[in-house]
Amino acid sequence: MRSTEVVVIGSGFGGLAAAKQLAKSNVETVLISATAEHLFQPLLYQVATGVLPAQEIAPQIAEVLADKESISVVEGYVTALDARQKVLTYSTADGVEQIAYEYLIVAAGASQGYFGHDEWADCTFSLKTRADAVDLRAHLLDCFEAPANDDAAHTFVVVGAGATGVEVAGQIQELGNRYFTDAPATVHLVEGAGDVLPVYGGKLSAFARKTLEKSGIDVMTGTVVTDIQGEAVTVRTADGDDRVLRARTVVWSAGVKATPLAAVVAEATGCDTDRAGRLLINPDLTVGGRADVFAIGDMTSLDRLPGQSPVAMQQGRHAADMIRGTTVRGTRFRYLDKGSMAVVNRHNAVVDAPFGIKLTGFLGWLTWLGVHLFYLVGFRNRVGAVLSWFRSFAGKARPGFAQVDRRSARPEEPDADRANSRDMVESAA
Ligand SMILES: Cc1cc2nc3c(=O)[nH]c(=O)nc-3n(C[C@H](O)[C@H](O)[C@H](O)COP(=O)(O)OP(=O)(O)OC[C@H]3O[C@@H](n4cnc5c(N)ncnc54)[C@H](O)[C@@H]3O)c2cc1C
Repeated sequence: MRSTEVVVIGSGFGGLAAAKQLAKSNVETVLISATAEHLFQPLLYQVATGVLPAQEIAPQIAEVLADKESISVVEGYVTALDARQKVLTYSTADGVEQIAYEYLIVAAGASQGYFGHDEWADCTFSLKTRADAVDLRAHLLDCFEAPANDDAAHTFVVVGAGATGVEVAGQIQELGNRYFTDAPATVHLVEGAGDVLPVYGGKLSAFARKTLEKSGIDVMTGTVVTDIQGEAVTVRTADGDDRVLRARTVVWSAGVKATPLAAVVAEATGCDTDRAGRLLINPDLTVGGRADVFAIGDMTSLDRLPGQSPVAMQQGRHAADMIRGTTVRGTRFRYLDKGSMAVVNRHNAVVDAPFGIKLTGFLGWLTWLGVHLFYLVGFRNRVGAVLSWFRSFAGKARPGFAQVDRRSARPEEPDADRANSRDMVESAA
């Protein structure tokens, strides 16, 4: 059986940050991930709406870590953990394998939650993986190219007005306003809370709402989805009225739940979970009664921290620092909040920065642009993204749509990641 000092599970924000930090002390590390890429989830909505080609937000994790000699990358789906023996079981395209570790960092992220209506997963689009974005992109192109009298094709319901819901609704409306102008697009943004971007509140939420409405979006706050049947989406409005929206596209961005690995880790370590299945980790990021197992990022819950990439990255570095001995074992994790931001539409964003700084409009958008360029992984991706943004936002192109095979509405690029992870899950079952 293979063995190593540290295993990191997941190639997302948390896993990548942890692995890079461990490499600073040349700690022997194996990074196992179900997907071969490092996915920049905050820009998935831009792939779905054709702004960016998919590859610009998903560099191969092996390439990203190629210069770190102490790290090896394995594409595999972890299915079991024996915390006492310190052994992980994972499946790869070649079969089931095991690895022994000294320390384990689990960063397996979250998947979409449907508030007890898992059947809605089959009739809605979500935005969690690259495959999700590529599927939605092909579907949107189909809808916008449908005959002008096909009302359901030109009607879009986005459920959840957090950052993702606002961003995707804003971009779909923009597709209708600037790119596919033959038939009007109707976008309904449905949110159960009293306002859009509820975690921002005040001036920022008010700005976002006003901007969305001005662009033509029907913003329905205090409204919940009660049923989805085919193209009929039933919502209960703030007044208690039931209303049926007829739409061929429902984008679901309203809830999260931990990925299945959280339950495996909980069982193996005796750790409790919350209602969304997230691990209730200890203040030093260890799990249950184990001092050698850490869990970080979206699959965990600690101090009501938001499910955002800076939390996962800072936690990844903290766990790695304790393992490599630059931080004392057992040190409580403290989050340094550098603020949050969301794009509303072209040239409009809201930014909630430290020291009470709140930016809206073009200034907010420029800030958003700079921050995302800084955090995008890889020089090639940064250059590519800048060119695509220029073509999309200054001009009227949507470079991502060129990747869609219009005859079959399937992506031209083979989605190896989707196929591989499916094979691996199936071979594990
Ligand atoms: C559409 C969208 C928009 C977002 N926008 C923002 C934003 O604007 N700002 C912000 O800060 N945050 C944003 N987020 C949240 C941010 O992306 C997450 O907080 C962050 O990705 C969490 O990092 P993570 O490492 O915990 O999980 P992830 O980045 O999700 O990585 C999880 C990794 O685990 C792997 N994995 C899962 N299960 C297994 C298994 N069993 N075996 C092996 N590997 C496995 C996956 O393949 C993946 O590589 C957004 C998220 C989404 C979905």
